[in-house]
Amino acid sequence: MNTPKTPSPSQSSSLLRQVKVFLQQWVDSDFHPEGVEAVLAQEDKVDWKRCVPFIVLHLGCFAVLWVGVSWVAVVAAVLLYAVRMFAITAFYHRYLSHRSYRTSRVVQFLFAVLGNSSCQRGPLWWASVHRHHHQHSDEEVDAHSPVVHGFWWSHIGWITSTKNFPTDYSRVRDLQKFPELVFLNRHDQLVPVVYGALLWLTGWLLERSAPGLGTNGAQMFVWGFFISTVVLLHATFCINSLAHVFGSKRFKTSDDSRNNFLLALLTLGEGWHNNHHRYAPAARQGFFWWEIDVSYYLLKVLSWTGLVWDLRKVPQSVYDEAHALNQS
Ligand SMILES: [Zn+2]
Ligand SMILES: [Zn+2]
Repeated sequence: MNTPKTPSPSQSSSLLRQVKVFLQQWVDSDFHPEGVEAVLAQEDKVDWKRCVPFIVLHLGCFAVLWVGVSWVAVVAAVLLYAVRMFAITAFYHRYLSHRSYRTSRVVQFLFAVLGNSSCQRGPLWWASVHRHHHQHSDEEVDAHSPVVHGFWWSHIGWITSTKNFPTDYSRVRDLQKFPELVFLNRHDQLVPVVYGALLWLTGWLLERSAPGLGTNGAQMFVWGFFISTVVLLHATFCINSLAHVFGSKRFKTSDDSRNNFLLALLTLGEGWHNNHHRYAPAARQGFFWWEIDVSYYLLKVLSWTGLVWDLRKVPQSVYDEAHALNQS
């Protein structure tokens, strides 16, 4: 008869150590006792501990069965999706990752905070992974290539891999100069926690001040935090997965990036991914007037107010190339 195996003292202490490291990384994502180089050199594999936040986020959406719905909660969820998508596409992506325009240190920080509330980790981590993606698009070392690693890995699997957890600061030296951005990056759970608390507080205040709206703290939290954030996560992740598979390929780039109208609508302009891989330094990704790029329109409006400036244009040579390819 098999007797149940009890863990040896060394196994128990190793497990205890892993839990301790996990909890410490929860409050400081730069905490890597084995050294960053050693972690980055690891094999890619799903780390189940890293799945916990995603599982909680997704399961949280089911709480809608208990908290119900009100128009004010749905409007809040949609607006918070749009504002945070703009922070991700226009700031985390086009500004921090590609430096496609300039802005003040205050605006840079405020939008980094807003981007951080999307639960897509810190601004420097996001930019470092993304710069690596452009350097090695659809190569074996690309963290999220659907062509190399398949749909699910490129969509969400890669982010749960321990190897992809540390921030490779060597790729973001220009951003590391700003201690406030490094702080957000190290403590990347702080903003999402505050964001969630503020939502609850808003719902609680509305329940007391305007009971006719039919909302409350828990309902606002479920719609504004869980549902809005999960949709936002998957829409963003679709650029890594679907935008390298489905759509048209205007430019002959060395990767499999595509232009996809639906993804562009969903992500406020990021779906023009083949354009973007052809000329990443541009502030716009819809290169022509019919390629809807809401993030670019909003950046243009912000530039009229003086909050951002020096929006980098698409060079004429790239337009000439597009016309030549269209005629061939
Ligand atoms: Zn790409
Ligand atoms: Zn990019």
